[in-house]
Amino acid sequence: MFTADTIPRLQICTHGNALAKTSPNAPCPCGRTEKYKKCCRRWHNGAPAPTPEDLMRSRFTAYSLGLVDYILSTSHPDGPHGKPEQRDSVTDFCAQTAFQSLEVLSASEDGHRGEVSFYAHLSVADQDASFGERSTFYRVDGRWLYHSGTPIQRT
Ligand SMILES: [Zn+2]
Repeated sequence: MFTADTIPRLQICTHGNALAKTSPNAPCPCGRTEKYKKCCRRWHNGAPAPTPEDLMRSRFTAYSLGLVDYILSTSHPDGPHGKPEQRDSVTDFCAQTAFQSLEVLSASEDGHRGEVSFYAHLSVADQDASFGERSTFYRVDGRWLYHSGTPIQRT
């Protein structure tokens, strides 16, 4: 999910928001009504996100804030996006993309495996780049990690 490989590469982009800052007291970008400091910031600061949905939301917020280290460290090393060489593409994707909102459609977990279906509202250079995905997560050493995803259509 959210890789620069899936979108056209742009030479110039003035519409991204990788350097966007959010105030600790602003509503969290992940779509919950909590303030950022009471929501995803806890996971960004190192506490393990307790559910696959919490991790999914915190990754969306991390993309919107350009927290590349967090995105890489919460990607499963066996998944397609968990390689250190992904750093540049993740950084570019954060920089090129405006992360507008996230809808979580369903979330479940069974033992150490979890699934979250979501619809992410994004734009790149003022073009809609929204997409839906069913993501798979695995819990490793007490931490949920994003493994991979398959596209889903919005119903
Ligand atoms: Zn949040």
